[in-house]
Amino acid sequence: MALGYQPVVPATPAFRADGALYSEQFDDVYASAHGSLEQARHVFLNGNGLPERWQLPAPFVIVETGFGAGLNFLATWRLWMQTAPADARLHFVSVEKHPFSLADLRRIHKSFPELAPLARALQERWPVLLPGFHRFHFEEGRVSLTLLFGDAAEMLAQLDAAADAFFLDGFAPARNPAMWAEPVFREIARLARPGATLATYSVASIVREGLGAAGFTLVKRQGFTGKREMLTGCYRGVSTSAAAGAARRAIIIGAGLAGTTCAERLVHRGWTISLFEGHLTPAQEASGNPAGLIRPVVSADWNTHSRFTTAGYLYTTRHYQAIAASGHAVVKGEGGVIQLARDIGRFERQQRLVDDFRLPADFLRTMQSGEASDLAGAPVSGAGWWFPDAVWAQPASMCRANLSAAGAALEVHYGVPIASIERRGDEWHVLDAGGFTRDCATILILANAHQALDFAPARSLPLRRVRGQVSLIPARLDHPLKIAVCGDGYVTPAIDGRHCVGASFNEDVFDPTERIDDHAGNLGRLERMLPGFGAGLDAANLGCRVAFRTMARDRLPVVGAMDAPGLYACLALGSRGMTWSALAAELVASQIGGEPLPLERELVAALAPQRFGKQSAGQD
Ligand code: SAM
Repeated sequence: MALGYQPVVPATPAFRADGALYSEQFDDVYASAHGSLEQARHVFLNGNGLPERWQLPAPFVIVETGFGAGLNFLATWRLWMQTAPADARLHFVSVEKHPFSLADLRRIHKSFPELAPLARALQERWPVLLPGFHRFHFEEGRVSLTLLFGDAAEMLAQLDAAADAFFLDGFAPARNPAMWAEPVFREIARLARPGATLATYSVASIVREGLGAAGFTLVKRQGFTGKREMLTGCYRGVSTSAAAGAARRAIIIGAGLAGTTCAERLVHRGWTISLFEGHLTPAQEASGNPAGLIRPVVSADWNTHSRFTTAGYLYTTRHYQAIAASGHAVVKGEGGVIQLARDIGRFERQQRLVDDFRLPADFLRTMQSGEASDLAGAPVSGAGWWFPDAVWAQPASMCRANLSAAGAALEVHYGVPIASIERRGDEWHVLDAGGFTRDCATILILANAHQALDFAPARSLPLRRVRGQVSLIPARLDHPLKIAVCGDGYVTPAIDGRHCVGASFNEDVFDPTERIDDHAGNLGRLERMLPGFGAGLDAANLGCRVAFRTMARDRLPVVGAMDAPGLYACLALGSRGMTWSALAAELVASQIGGEPLPLERELVAALAPQRFGKQSAGQD
């Protein structure tokens, strides 16, 4: 069943007389009054045999129930940096129904000066409080955090992960039985690798019986100060510490947004990449448009498209912030993006949605036309939504930023069109038109849009090309547009003296030449967003770029493992490649590495190549 939209209701922190952080709603403390960090160490870390057990090459995966103020996470992160091998990776996944607001989180963290730098890094990335999965990376990828905002049973059922350890920290069972009930235990067992361990402060019989029935062998141990006992457990079965360390080398075909983000996400995990591009430079197809928008999509039914686009927007924003912080900047404009409602009835619906969904103001808010015009620097046609962190950006600069962030671990072969792919033994060979193998590796990612149809294993995917023409119009000196505006099209502020206005949408039209009709269509879109802004412009005399987006039949991207072993797709990003590609690439990289997935299982299935039926595993 599809997850509906469940607004996130933040926690209201209180402090008991002894200083302990307390929840009035659950009538319980967040951690032992004898010390949160000491409890984290004694119960959760030592209780799971940590740090000794994480001296393995494979990513170590911890799943926690109840993120609270993140103190267990911060304590784990600190210990990881002190004790784990430099090339080891930690995935910490935590579910939280009532996250703290950023202001409260800051206030709570002040009491833990020893964690200050890590707490600050967490605060800097603290997400807008929207339901679903939110992934963050720290320490150049050595530590990843995936927060699942929502109810534990529902969210854990959406998680695809193989956990090594569980921290069960959901308030006392008597105060919060929902966190200690069969639906949660069942998911914990499903997520457990054989040999996975758990630890909790509770030895209540419902906890022991529930976890025992779910498949854990349990042992009582000495509890933390003030408590006689605590519980540890081990999932039955022989430990299969995941085999990692095999040659971590992959081939990617295509150096647009899909391919360059996949390359960067894998290099970030210590892989080396061989990237093939038929053109002589990156971003020559749809990713070569002068500008586009990175923005969420919100719909009343919170459908798959809005959920993935919004998750993609949040992840992409963090992705390029991190890349910029490491010195690889993107050409983009801050100040948010305005999405105009088509008419007053639709604006009222927008307003209702903000109220019903309790959408946080740091994510979006409604705006009347006067305020929107002031913000935009030009008169807009009406009221709408304003996304404060959305941006316009130049997609080619995003590709270049990914390539340079990937650095020396990435080798790019420009001007080498791959004509076919072949599986020989357990490797994929990529061959040029002369039938020569140009490279081979166990992992191959197709990130070459509709050209993937040239290869037998992808041939049955229902991909089509959609022609899009943008118009480039001269900057208006009387109305210097300051931020991007969209409606049934979009217009960006002037870049190098020209605004980018888009875009036409013609399915199955393959004409690459400029069309005056399409310019006229774009001028119509502009007029409906910014009345009078395009006055005097002649459709026969505008700048132009034509590109072909690749879209799947259902207009969702095609992302993930294909039916043939070692073969992955990052395709059909359509006109949302800028917003989708980083999260799509993170999904592919997580699947390749056997890591927890950054998206709900429902969304993973909705994007999977298999949704159209089985592809041929044949060769080409
Ligand atoms: N691990 C946290 C830390 O290190 O700061 C403390 C966790 S606190 C004891 C328990 C947390 O479980 C609270 O933050 C609470 O909001 C959350 N919680 C309670 N019921 C929940 C549910 N049904 N689903 C998800 N989270 C829940």
